[in-house]
Amino acid sequence: MSDLLIRRADVLQITGDKHTPSASILRDHDIVITGNRIERIVPTGIDPSQFRDVIDAAGLLAMPGLINTHAHVPMVIFRGLAEDVNIDRWFNDFMWPLESNLEPDDVYWGTLLGFAEMLESGVTTTADHYFFMDRAAHAVEKIGARALLAWAIFGSQGHDKIRETADWVRDFQGAAGGRIRTWMAPHAPYTCDDDFLRASVEAAKRLNVGIHIHAAETPQQTQSSLEKRGQTPIQVLQQTGVFEVPTILAHVLGATPSDIEIMAKVKTGVAHAPKTYMKLAMGAAPLLQFRAAGVPVGLATDGAVSNNTLDIWESLRLMPMIQKMTTGVAENLPIPEALYIATRESAQVIGMGDQLGSVEPGYLADLILVDLNGMHHQPLHSITASLVYNTRASDVRTTIVNGQVVMRDRQLLTVDKAEIAAEVRARVNRLAQRTPAKRIQVYNP
Ligand SMILES: [Zn+2]
Repeated sequence: MSDLLIRRADVLQITGDKHTPSASILRDHDIVITGNRIERIVPTGIDPSQFRDVIDAAGLLAMPGLINTHAHVPMVIFRGLAEDVNIDRWFNDFMWPLESNLEPDDVYWGTLLGFAEMLESGVTTTADHYFFMDRAAHAVEKIGARALLAWAIFGSQGHDKIRETADWVRDFQGAAGGRIRTWMAPHAPYTCDDDFLRASVEAAKRLNVGIHIHAAETPQQTQSSLEKRGQTPIQVLQQTGVFEVPTILAHVLGATPSDIEIMAKVKTGVAHAPKTYMKLAMGAAPLLQFRAAGVPVGLATDGAVSNNTLDIWESLRLMPMIQKMTTGVAENLPIPEALYIATRESAQVIGMGDQLGSVEPGYLADLILVDLNGMHHQPLHSITASLVYNTRASDVRTTIVNGQVVMRDRQLLTVDKAEIAAEVRARVNRLAQRTPAKRIQVYNP
């Protein structure tokens, strides 16, 4: 008896390398899942009676579960509270005063809410960066997602906080049957001094994990780092040893050409969250330069206070459009490259390029079934064009993580959505209080 058969699906295949990828469709195939792995993919015809569970996917597209390479998932509890402000006011007048209200249970319920939204939109793995991550891990375990969790810490919290989060990294590594991995997360070079960064690297090396950090988020951050420290943020990370472990760098809009040379020589990837950059008027990232240098790029949403949703389809759509618009070259970031970034390259950014981001035998069974029959897809001349430019989060019908069906025909099976929404609503009055004198940090990069 095998575990799960997905019958009669069309299967998205992304092949080739990042510079010359090709996207194609295997028509009418069966996918056999055994345990948490994809066992084989063959033309339709397998006898379904030999399986514990069968999903008929006729007319649906099977593709890799999407990966969100940088988020602050519990921030969904604050969404809509910081609108039409620049990045300085976003941090100093809104986000950091709001987060002074945060309690551990807010993170638990916020994580459930955010992951419910993401599983419903086909995101199966998220690299998350936030506080009280022991509570977040319990929520991820319950809801059935895969996550690379990182507990954000500031230099102002002192070295005890590094030891405390290192213990958490050790204790939660491989939790939820292997669905949870844990990394260290000093917040950013402008909120952590050199000693704090070095001590974080020592902890990461001892635990054999990577570091998830914000870096050179804007050109202004690069400029002020040069003025204050005589180094760019990327040079600070190099000097303090951060690049001696694998890293995820969030945003990096302020990378200089020599920064990109540094990044190309180390094991790093860039998390790219274009909606945040547009809303906070941060500018455009040098994505084409990153990729030309061999630095992998992954799709991200960032938190919902700057992105409003955790809809990675929006990131997929905005990414090529911003690159086309800002370079004035409509041929830049064509559809196969955008899909390569959304799948294989995003998996590479979180250090799982050999296990996620492709529907192929031996890979982890994280996949989604997408319904391209809506009017906004018809007459569907090009499936791949529809995936990048037409698909809505609600087109995802079924979501499978680690071989387990977590959403089936739009029904989330692991949690009670009404309970989550009620728990979060019960917290909104307290969470919406802003006391700037109580803010947890000051943004002054
Ligand atoms: Zn962030």
